[in-house]
Amino acid sequence: MDQQSAVAERTSEAERRIRAAGQRPTKARLQILQALLDLAQPVSHGEIQEHILEHWKEAMDRVTLYRGLDWLVQHQLTHRITADDRVWRFSAINLEHPSHPHFHCLRCGQVLCLPESQLPQPILPEDYRVEEIEMVVNGICPHCQKTVESGDKKGG
Ligand SMILES: [Zn+2]
Ligand SMILES: [Zn+2]
Repeated sequence: MDQQSAVAERTSEAERRIRAAGQRPTKARLQILQALLDLAQPVSHGEIQEHILEHWKEAMDRVTLYRGLDWLVQHQLTHRITADDRVWRFSAINLEHPSHPHFHCLRCGQVLCLPESQLPQPILPEDYRVEEIEMVVNGICPHCQKTVESGDKKGG
């Protein structure tokens, strides 16, 4: 598949999801959701902006991006993840596993969805209700394990 039709297909997937939620797909919403679908893993604001610039040859300002992401989160088309580095990351909802834990690499900061893992089911006191469960597994990714083993230490 050439790049042009790949982009068109992603855009239609973004559009399909927004319409399925009964909402109007504006250009900004499509661009952001498409970027998340393309990137496939949780990404920061900067990475989304970079991707949009690369694929659409136009920059999206921060306000539009923040507003678009808020909208997508609010309509359950995107989820927001915080790892302990305090950077917000976003990822398109995994339709099969909408809630799932995330892995965070303590060295390079990479965040990965773990859609096959179950979230713990907390036992709440009577009359309490769960709105959202977030779980982040902190560890070291395979790439960083290799760098440590080979003694490749950069700087102090
Ligand atoms: Zn890593
Ligand atoms: Zn995820």
